[in-house]
Amino acid sequence: MSSSEFDFDTRQIHAGTGVDAEFGSRLTPIYQTAGFVFDSFADGQGRFDGTVPGQAYARTDNPTNAAVARRLADLEGGIGGLLTASGTAAIALTLNALVTAGDHVLATASLYEGTKTLFANSFGRQGVEIELVSADASDDEWRRRVRPTTKALFTETIPNPKNDVVDLERFAGIAHAAGIPLIVDNTVATPYLNRPIEHGADIVIHSTSKWISGHGAVLGGVVIDSGSFDWASQETRYPQLTLPSARGRASFVERFGRFAFLTYLRSVTALDYGPTLPPTSAFMILQGIETLSLRMDRHVANSLALAQWLEHQENVTSVDYPGLVQSPYYARAQKYLPKGAGAVVTFELAGGVEAARAFIDSLQLISKMTHLGDVRTLAIHTGSTIHGHLTEEERLAIGITPGTIRLSVGLESVRDLRHDLERAVAAAAAAASEAEVEASLSDEAVSAA
Ligand SMILES: *Cc1c(COP(=O)(O)O)cnc(C)c1O
Repeated sequence: MSSSEFDFDTRQIHAGTGVDAEFGSRLTPIYQTAGFVFDSFADGQGRFDGTVPGQAYARTDNPTNAAVARRLADLEGGIGGLLTASGTAAIALTLNALVTAGDHVLATASLYEGTKTLFANSFGRQGVEIELVSADASDDEWRRRVRPTTKALFTETIPNPKNDVVDLERFAGIAHAAGIPLIVDNTVATPYLNRPIEHGADIVIHSTSKWISGHGAVLGGVVIDSGSFDWASQETRYPQLTLPSARGRASFVERFGRFAFLTYLRSVTALDYGPTLPPTSAFMILQGIETLSLRMDRHVANSLALAQWLEHQENVTSVDYPGLVQSPYYARAQKYLPKGAGAVVTFELAGGVEAARAFIDSLQLISKMTHLGDVRTLAIHTGSTIHGHLTEEERLAIGITPGTIRLSVGLESVRDLRHDLERAVAAAAAAASEAEVEASLSDEAVSAA
């Protein structure tokens, strides 16, 4: 089934899979096995060297995983994909396939916190510098940062918690002028709300742990290749793809053409590091994908309704949701996210950390939890958890104040969610005024002394 022939709602149910040939199972079977038997000596040899189709070992070759990767690649408009054990593994593998010690990668500064620690810690320690630059810096500034050793530009469609939607076409232009691929983490948008390849991205990554699987039950990740980046035009930048192997084998570009990067990622990087997704998890991700558009429509509608309600609460000092007309990212969201601006709603309570504590402790329906994209609504005080390892100044620099709360808005009745928020926002207001009274009492004590 080809992308152009059917609508998204149809492809999320059918693309990349067929009826199982052996028993006619309608659903894609879970191939729970470590390996696959060879028919003969020659067959084993051929499967290993890639001249005979078929699987060899389940570290990179599981048919259940391959079916899910085909479906996600279809939904994103890519030529193929690779499933990984988590979103973090997808990011780590993709960059590992492109860089070597001494290399440099550019990234927009507003990113998922785990990605920033991966970049700073593990890549930093290997001698790979991943330089974070403000997305608001000028084109000139971005161009000046490109070095001969720069191997990629990394960004996210909707960075959280601030929802500072990225101008993907601008960064595709900057990357391509520099001769490097644009890699986009599209986790928060999902291919239903935005398809970065249509805006110039070369490689798309997801944490499928979030909205794609959608039920908070499994971790997973995927790397999708657009097949459009011309590696061959960059002969010295990506020798692992463009030069013959040490044993004289033709280059990946020569052997696999548009599939060069994806084949290298699967047959070298993923094989070497081994972050394999269990096929049971792949099966559950596939079940999630089949209702993606339906869930996202509801996620987005609930998010907008709650963001609008929060905006009108007296002790809520700001709301970051790009679906709000007042958001500085509204116009960009209209362009890149016409079906909705995602399902992360971040807001600031007056009264700082004491208000945040009262808010979190008053929630009854909403889960106090770190995660995104669950059918359940989740709330977290990121300053004491996800961003707890940063200094107060570092938190402020990324827009996280002591009163900042992040919601991952789920699929419950919006009326019930609002009731839970009402109670918690009222508790936060009471805690804030209590803290104010205490502060003024201690001020009096100071001036009396
Ligand atoms: C969760 C998340 C990741 C990491 O994914 P895991 O599956 O938790 O490893 C990466 N990027 C974004 C935007 C995420 O939300």
